[in-house]
Amino acid sequence: MIRRLPTEPIDRRRLIVGAGATLGGFALQSCATTRLASRALDPGCTLHPVYVAPDRVIRAVAGLRPYREAGFVVRAEALGGKRLVHNYGHGGAGITLSWGSSMLATRLGLPGHQGAVAVMGAGVMGLTTARLVQEAGFSVTIYTKALPPDTTSNIAGGQISPFGHYRDSMVTPEWRAQFAAAMDYSWRRFQIMVGEDYGIRWLTTYTEGDGPDPSDPFQRYHPAARRLDSAEHPFPVDNLSRFDTMYVETGRFLRQLTRDVHLAGGAIRVREFATPADIATLPETLVFNGTGLGAGALFGDAGIRPIRGQLAILLPQPEVDYAFTGEAGYMFPRADGVVLGGTFERDEWDATPQPEDISRIVASHRRLFQGFRCTPT
Ligand SMILES: Cc1cc2nc3c(=O)[nH]c(=O)nc-3n(C[C@H](O)[C@H](O)[C@H](O)COP(=O)(O)OP(=O)(O)OC[C@H]3O[C@@H](n4cnc5c(N)ncnc54)[C@H](O)[C@@H]3O)c2cc1C
Repeated sequence: MIRRLPTEPIDRRRLIVGAGATLGGFALQSCATTRLASRALDPGCTLHPVYVAPDRVIRAVAGLRPYREAGFVVRAEALGGKRLVHNYGHGGAGITLSWGSSMLATRLGLPGHQGAVAVMGAGVMGLTTARLVQEAGFSVTIYTKALPPDTTSNIAGGQISPFGHYRDSMVTPEWRAQFAAAMDYSWRRFQIMVGEDYGIRWLTTYTEGDGPDPSDPFQRYHPAARRLDSAEHPFPVDNLSRFDTMYVETGRFLRQLTRDVHLAGGAIRVREFATPADIATLPETLVFNGTGLGAGALFGDAGIRPIRGQLAILLPQPEVDYAFTGEAGYMFPRADGVVLGGTFERDEWDATPQPEDISRIVASHRRLFQGFRCTPT
């Protein structure tokens, strides 16, 4: 099996949080390295290792995933004389679900509406909602406390894969249908945006695990998935699979979306909403709520909570053209640096990187890539 969809928010990549987990990973890799070193490797060894060392770290970042056990919210309600459409709570899958979730939100809000539209928030949900509103022919103003690059969306690693955003036992069949519809649209929308302008590309992902699970309804989002023989890869791990998916360089993507909003005549105003009564003062009668984690305090949703993620970013290595997820953490190569993750820390509100955690992330990846069983030809 490759990576089942989550019943717990823990497995975009096997995330390293505590020293115990990390040490466990080290122990595993160490044994696996010894076991695998003696096996022959096919000479078609073309993967370049990532050069991992503390002095190659160019920045460390942390962000708070807006997580809801009951899943993300797309719902319309009346607010005074306005229609308010919520679109928040996407946990560790907000980039992945953005276009699809925002499409569902606009389908709830736009039919029958006349006049200008307001969008709250300028993360990936706010920006994709604003673009879809414009594509439907409406003028839009984004109202937001913070703009890119100061959003959680800018922190995201950018793998298109729907992980870490709900608890299996907490969601309804209706919600699962909503999730499937969002995923379907996002999957198709990101594909037609592949290219340098939006910073989106396909990469093969090597992932620790037993291989594809044909019973997984979301398996189609892992095309070309198969289990690998140890002679087919250089990683010092026992069980490895591969699949293809898209990766988003989030900074570039959000910058481009912001430009698109402006180019299409949209306005962006910096404004914080403290209570729903503040929203009542907006001139627009249709308002989309893309405030992410901020929706909890603003609308009294006690079901949303932060899950902190920390990343170490290494010097770019353009020759690295694959991604990895496994016991060591995850590695996504991007033009703005090689992203190493990560942590999954529940109810942690401090969005600053912790030096000890960053050191552990770097150390686990250093170990992984030092164990590479070949050098590229
Ligand atoms: C380390 C890390 C790695 C991740 N990796 C991935 C990944 O690989 N793939 C993936 O799909 N997802 C990933 N995610 C998850 C993803 O980043 C989030 O799900 C997504 O960014 C949520 O987007 P958003 O627009 O809802 O929220 P945000 O990006 O937080 O945007 C919210 C916006 O609302 C504004 N706002 C908030 N409150 C108010 C208020 N009261 N008044 C006015 N404005 C307000 C904010 O200023 C901001 O502009 C990752 C997250 C982290 C932290």
